[in-house]
Amino acid sequence: MLEGMMLTLDRVTKTYRAGAFGGGSVTAVDRVSFDAAPGEVVSLIGESGSGKSTIGRMVLGLTGVSGGSLTLDGTPVRPGKDFYRRVQGVFQDPFSCYNPVFKADRVFAMIRRAYHPGVPDREWEQRVEKAVRDVRLDPGQVLGRYPHQLSGGQLQRLLIARALLLDLSFLVADEITSMLDASTRIDVLNLLAGLKERGLGVLYITHDLSLGTYLAERTVVLRRGRVVERGNTQKVFGNPLHPYTRTLLAAVPRLNTPWDPPEPVESCAYHRGAADPGDSAGLHEAEDDHFVACAGLPDCGRTPA
Ligand code: ADP
Ligand code: MG
Repeated sequence: MLEGMMLTLDRVTKTYRAGAFGGGSVTAVDRVSFDAAPGEVVSLIGESGSGKSTIGRMVLGLTGVSGGSLTLDGTPVRPGKDFYRRVQGVFQDPFSCYNPVFKADRVFAMIRRAYHPGVPDREWEQRVEKAVRDVRLDPGQVLGRYPHQLSGGQLQRLLIARALLLDLSFLVADEITSMLDASTRIDVLNLLAGLKERGLGVLYITHDLSLGTYLAERTVVLRRGRVVERGNTQKVFGNPLHPYTRTLLAAVPRLNTPWDPPEPVESCAYHRGAADPGDSAGLHEAEDDHFVACAGLPDCGRTPA
């Protein structure tokens, strides 16, 4: 059993400087709050440019937080060797993580050098082979190969295997299935489900409502840097309250099932619960573990906060 970590974002904001002469700035993430408990997959969904990768990069300590607080087990992210032993990211494009000149399993050697220098050769080989089998690859078929001799799915899974050689507690998976074909996609998702069972926390980032969304017990819907709706996945997608969430749902093609797009939202769920001023991040708790932002619809007469 791995030891999971609790991720907590409290009104996290990220502003990037924009323009060559330092004049303007872009607020890529605006007062975002949510958490992810150990053993929980939380999916972060929103269209391109909504700030998802920025959140992933802040969790990984690859970029700083401009405002609010982001903690893992109550401690602010402190990038360094000890941190990356427990917190790792896997990204959309697996090819970019490999140097084409070197064999793909060099990524394992790098982990060994940094984290397990004392492990004897034979034991290390056994650990690598086990990690490779854990991601449902055949060590004989993938070890010793060059990146161009492996598929995107194999490279992606090797990166997950590499993370498994650490004392991993939290994984950020940013659009990891986007480049994979349908069957490999299911393998990778099964793998994530396995990690979750082992007690890891996973932040699963995606731009569409893919299968991965259903792995997640909780979902955060992001739009233009803000959370528009979040909570229990079944509640968010079974009873979407924000017009944007409904738009995402309406974009999902369904096979073999008659599909009625959700009714347009006519009244603002936020202001229907009007007396409630919302939580500190400006969200209203519409039902237990289901929060929604103001939609700025005509009936509420307000512009979204
Ligand atoms: P997503 O992953 O949802 O597509 P990103 O987090 O990549 O969104 O980007 C959110 C916003 O922040 C976009 O407007 C993007 O242009 C901007 N942005 C991202 N990275 C940088 C950066 N390093 N410098 C300036 N702006 C950035
Ligand atoms: Mg992105």
